[in-house]
Amino acid sequence: MKNIALLGSTGSIGRQVLDCVRRYPDRYRIVSLAAASNSELLNLQINEFKPNLAAIRDKEAAEKLVIPKGVTLFSGEDALEKAVVEEADIVFVAVVGFAGLKGVLKAIELGKTVALANKEALVAGGEIVTRLAKEKGVEILPVDSEHSALWQSMSFDKAAKFKRLIITASGGAFRNVPLEQLSGLKAAEALKHPNWNMGKKITVDCATMVNKGLEVIEAKWLFDCPLEKIRVLYHPESIVHSMVEYDDGAIMAQMGFPSMELPISLALSYPERLCGAPTIDLAGKILHFDELDKRRYPCFDLVLESAKAGGVYPCALSSANEEAVKLYLEDRIKFTDIYSALSFVCDGIEGEKVTVESLSRADSSARALVKKWYETRI
Ligand code: NDP
Ligand code: MG
Repeated sequence: MKNIALLGSTGSIGRQVLDCVRRYPDRYRIVSLAAASNSELLNLQINEFKPNLAAIRDKEAAEKLVIPKGVTLFSGEDALEKAVVEEADIVFVAVVGFAGLKGVLKAIELGKTVALANKEALVAGGEIVTRLAKEKGVEILPVDSEHSALWQSMSFDKAAKFKRLIITASGGAFRNVPLEQLSGLKAAEALKHPNWNMGKKITVDCATMVNKGLEVIEAKWLFDCPLEKIRVLYHPESIVHSMVEYDDGAIMAQMGFPSMELPISLALSYPERLCGAPTIDLAGKILHFDELDKRRYPCFDLVLESAKAGGVYPCALSSANEEAVKLYLEDRIKFTDIYSALSFVCDGIEGEKVTVESLSRADSSARALVKKWYETRI
């Protein structure tokens, strides 16, 4: 029996983790659940899975929970870390955004295996996270589909010697929209991803291609790979989830139906593979690969520039993006304004060496700068 602490249980990934637990009740047990504010769904999950501990960030939401006997409840800003419990064998981090970093660090401190969906934690704190994981001998299992594909294409050997990583990109909801129409497209349109069904923030990030930039940084840390050895290819069918190129010219790819079921299930069952995820019939399928259209996706280069600058820059950019996407989702800014907000923040951030404290400062400063950018333009 594998005991799972699930951070972000009410989200798109979190709900799919619970589907997997439902499918294999004799293999998996939920020992803790954590969410931010969705008390209604968390309530149902607590009553179904009877964890030892439940955590919710918002205090008001906590008051709406009906907690069964034997379940301990925590609420407030520290609740997420409280959900990283000693009884867990694996901590599944499915929280969105910078908030996940604390959970990841606590899990590693306790020596727990981490199944990592929360890419923003690695983007911001990759240097600290990977150093600490090495010190503690903790494994970080990739959940993001591209990184799971890379891991599988290395036969699960992250130390494998490769020439290049090739990450595929679907292009998001606006991949075929004429460039001059991009600024007028509302969030409701951006949320109609052609291939994947995901949470709101990441779906917008696919349309701007911020997501792919974050994934390049995620791959850098997960596979200890310099940025120059990571290539991104546009692949509109989302069937090849990513590839590893070796010195002899061989390219190993992982293919499959565009669904998170497989990467989620694999992170839980590794080194075994279980059945359950949908399969794809390749007969008649035509696959395309191409360079990214840089004019369509200016945010992609901005994220890469932050990665090259290093230090707290990727953290600042990622946190600024969280705020800009929120504004876009509320229809308060245009789609193309996301780029303007991110550029403004990149120019306004002071470079610093990475520590837990400097990351926290960069996170707050970036959010404040987006607020300033927004206020000065209206
Ligand atoms: P969602 O927005 O659907 O879910 C986010 C989850 O995090 C919710 O459960 C939310 O709770 C919780 N949460 C947010 N902040 C906190 C906090 N401070 N404390 C506790 N819980 C918190 O996101 P996704 O599931 O789409 O994405 C999760 C992560 O996985 C992201 O980093 C994303 O980039 C990555 N990812 C997602 C994929 C997908 O298919 N969705 C694919 C690949 C990667 P509440 O519901 O209460 O707000
Ligand atoms: Mg991905």
